[in-house]
Amino acid sequence: MNRDNTPSDAALIVQMEKVNKHFGELHVLKDIDLTIRPGEVVVVIGASGSGKSTLIRCINGLEEFQAGHIEVDGNELLPYGKSSRALQTIRTEVGMVFQQFNLFPHLSVRDNVTLAPMKVRGWNLADATETANRLLERVGIADQADKYPSQLSGGQQQRVALARALAMEPRLMLFDEPTSALDPEMIGEVLDAMRELAREGMTMIIVTHEMGFAREVADRVVFIHRGEIVEQAAPDVLFDSPQHERTQSFLSRVL
Ligand code: ADP
Ligand code: MG
Repeated sequence: MNRDNTPSDAALIVQMEKVNKHFGELHVLKDIDLTIRPGEVVVVIGASGSGKSTLIRCINGLEEFQAGHIEVDGNELLPYGKSSRALQTIRTEVGMVFQQFNLFPHLSVRDNVTLAPMKVRGWNLADATETANRLLERVGIADQADKYPSQLSGGQQQRVALARALAMEPRLMLFDEPTSALDPEMIGEVLDAMRELAREGMTMIIVTHEMGFAREVADRVVFIHRGEIVEQAAPDVLFDSPQHERTQSFLSRVL
């Protein structure tokens, strides 16, 4: 610990300092300071268009930023940094699950899961298949392994997407509204799989509107408004006694 009681840098898996991001005229992220410790589960909330997706996409280099500093597991992303070596490493170490599952439609469920470990990590087919089978079992869809994504329900597809990300043995998992495209009856099965992952100690940053889930699973909730982090706190603190008027008015609309 440093004197100000924040963890020392080595204990952080994500460190964002004064990150600013523009889309043309639009200032989407404003002086974002955010740190994540290994094993932490951080939920990001905020209105549509507030910059939540952009924030987490910056962390795995899917979006460039114009000013500030991001470090992910010791790999530094720089402003305007498109093709750095660190970016390749970060892409390998950070798993992401999107709202739209983004599975490869022409590949079986199992092949969706084995592809990246074989291509990027150089695993052989036997090892990749063994891992895929184990992960599909873990998310409860081992029996669907030979099907194609289009033959699965949305909830099953999202669990395949989760297994696919986990196959790369990520150090950090990012989730961008993973249940927003799902029929209500399928939300629970995806949240259950995420809850299990959190329980096993995975470091996770989750953008979600599922406030009950956030309250239960998050170590910390971050509220973002118009590109700024307005407030962050443990879920019971943030939900039960938000300090800022912006947070209060957002929560009064969604809770
Ligand atoms: P959220 O995920 O909180 O809904 P986003 O991060 O997707 O918000 O978007 C933040 C703002 O940036 C919005 O005003 C959105 O319209 C804008 N935006 C997002 N992506 C792009 C893009 N590729 N080009 C231009 N503007 C964008
Ligand atoms: Mg979004």
